[in-house]
Amino acid sequence: MRKVIIVGAGAAGLMAANCLKDRNCEVLLLEKKHQCGLKLRITGKGRCNLTNASDKNSFLARVSDKEFFEPSFDAFDNTSLMDFFTFKGVELKTERGQRVYPASNKAADMFFALLEGIENDNRVKIIKNCDVRHVITQDSKAKGVVTNQGNFFADAVILATGGRSYPTTGSEGDGYRIAELLGHHIITPVPALVGLRTKNGYPLSAHGTEIKNCRVNITDSHRKVIASKDGDIMLDEYGVSGPVILTLSRQIARRLDSGEKLFLNIDYKPKVDKDKLYGEIKETFRQRRTEQAASIIRKWFVKPLTQDVLEVCRIQSRTMGYKLTQQNAESLLWYMKDRKEEIVGDMGWREAVVTMGGVSLKEVDKYTMESRKIKNLYITGELLDLDADTGGFNLQIAFSTAMTAARSIR
Ligand SMILES: Cc1cc2nc3c(=O)[nH]c(=O)nc-3n(C[C@H](O)[C@H](O)[C@H](O)COP(=O)(O)OP(=O)(O)OC[C@H]3O[C@@H](n4cnc5c(N)ncnc54)[C@H](O)[C@@H]3O)c2cc1C
Repeated sequence: MRKVIIVGAGAAGLMAANCLKDRNCEVLLLEKKHQCGLKLRITGKGRCNLTNASDKNSFLARVSDKEFFEPSFDAFDNTSLMDFFTFKGVELKTERGQRVYPASNKAADMFFALLEGIENDNRVKIIKNCDVRHVITQDSKAKGVVTNQGNFFADAVILATGGRSYPTTGSEGDGYRIAELLGHHIITPVPALVGLRTKNGYPLSAHGTEIKNCRVNITDSHRKVIASKDGDIMLDEYGVSGPVILTLSRQIARRLDSGEKLFLNIDYKPKVDKDKLYGEIKETFRQRRTEQAASIIRKWFVKPLTQDVLEVCRIQSRTMGYKLTQQNAESLLWYMKDRKEEIVGDMGWREAVVTMGGVSLKEVDKYTMESRKIKNLYITGELLDLDADTGGFNLQIAFSTAMTAARSIR
């Protein structure tokens, strides 16, 4: 019976343990926190968007390195993952954007399905509060691990420590240090799928306000649009977040990290061209001449945003419609279409959904997840320099790479 140590009981570690148990291996699952799967249980706002039901090509197009990921996806794809959970009694449903969730809307159901598979099985031993510090090697082969609870030995070691995002769930970047000590090259981890901080942010009164159907453009210092997306955003005291921003943050993460000056533009009316909108603003001023500015601009902006609009456009809230000038119309048009705010950073590791960067994929065999530096060492999940868009793609990466590693251990 092969003995396998899995470091980290998150999405990847729990999946690997389930697979190895069925392959009759003796598994030691070591988890640093007092509980397993802390992150898995809060995924998808507590609903767990476990995968995406799109076809293979569309799926792979959303992953940072499609060539690397393809073999593990082929071996355990989104359909196999859905079958896996359905077989375990978790009913699933597919929502907008092909996002797959448990029908119960409870991420905990996914977690317990994985845990039940291993918890009372004498082939799997789970040790919590077990902080793995090093991998023990001999002749460039993994032999065991050094932990705060002593040394453990095995025939193979799977690293499933996750990345650096949401460190309170246990993913504090330990895997990078462990892999680096073994000679692996780490592509600098940066937060991705994260809100963006802008120079001025928004007043507290606008915090949490959702802006629907806008277009967000990100430009460089030459005014060139480098990323753009339509959809919904959320205003924040420090900047912006929401689905569109998360997706864009991933596209600019490296440039932002390198210190490049980038700017954010929100087009509140992407379907109306500027001339038409300008005409509409002037006509509205004329028609609503006996109303105050604060009330007139509600035609284009949600209430919590009006204070900011008036302040930035330097319009007195009580100015009557007939007193609003051409300059006021121009500044409103500018706010709606052209305003650019400097991006001064992101919301950081505490709020990032994933880590971009990690163990260099050049040093990992894409068919087995085995390290090319250390034999019998397998690297999985978010610890790899592999990430994807929102929509269930990141959990699938964790599950597929874990399954690939577990099946490769003979
Ligand atoms: C708030 C939030 C919501 C998300 N929602 C979704 C979603 O709906 N769909 C989606 O696809 N993705 C989602 N993600 C991303 C997804 O959760 C991760 O990509 C995925 O969990 C990565 O799995 P993993 O097993 O590699 O790492 P993790 O799930 O982070 O697990 C790593 C485990 O290793 C343990 N560990 C770390 N270091 C050590 C050590 N030294 N010794 C022992 N144990 C250690 C940690 O405590 C942790 O339990 C979300 C992420 C966040 C933060």
